[in-house]
Amino acid sequence: GGPDGMECLRRVNPFRACAGLRVLGYLMLALVAAIVAASYYAVVVYAWGPLLLRGGNGGTVAAAAFVLAAFHLLLIMMLWCYFMVVFTNPGAVPENWRHAAEGDEEQGHAPRYCSRCQNGKPPRCHHCSICDRCVLKMDHHCVWVVNCVGARNYKYFLLFLVARKDMEVYIDFKNRKTWKSFNEKLQRCLVL
Ligand SMILES: [Zn+2]
Ligand SMILES: [Zn+2]
Repeated sequence: GGPDGMECLRRVNPFRACAGLRVLGYLMLALVAAIVAASYYAVVVYAWGPLLLRGGNGGTVAAAAFVLAAFHLLLIMMLWCYFMVVFTNPGAVPENWRHAAEGDEEQGHAPRYCSRCQNGKPPRCHHCSICDRCVLKMDHHCVWVVNCVGARNYKYFLLFLVARKDMEVYIDFKNRKTWKSFNEKLQRCLVL
């Protein structure tokens, strides 16, 4: 109960229908995999791989080797961050979490409580209606990673965004349009 429990309920109810977003999430995973595969094909198989294999001009071979090494490094970093964001629990509230009584009263806040999880709510903790759990330092629910971005996976999310931005350098002109629109969608997701 309490006013905060009411607030939590009010926030949850309009989004009950959005449970379907979880299903959408798995489609997003497939879409991300497809985009990565397409970029890989464009950069490695189509553009730079043949240059390396063909040999000849030493400068070209060195450039191709450099681009391919950098691209693979970024790709591994990006995928690692991506899966860390997807599979890391964004930050669970310890069971039977209680406010440190004095500290909270000093700040003049009534203890917050989530009626869905039936647990206390630390500061900056929000209940995600899609994950149906409370998330510490919840930033937003990102459909691209099928997870909330919160206290424990935020740093991976940022690294993922950086790696993805750096990979853009190696995408050739033909594929840049797809990549750009993918980036814009992610960017929009970041500020949601
Ligand atoms: Zn909750
Ligand atoms: Zn969520």
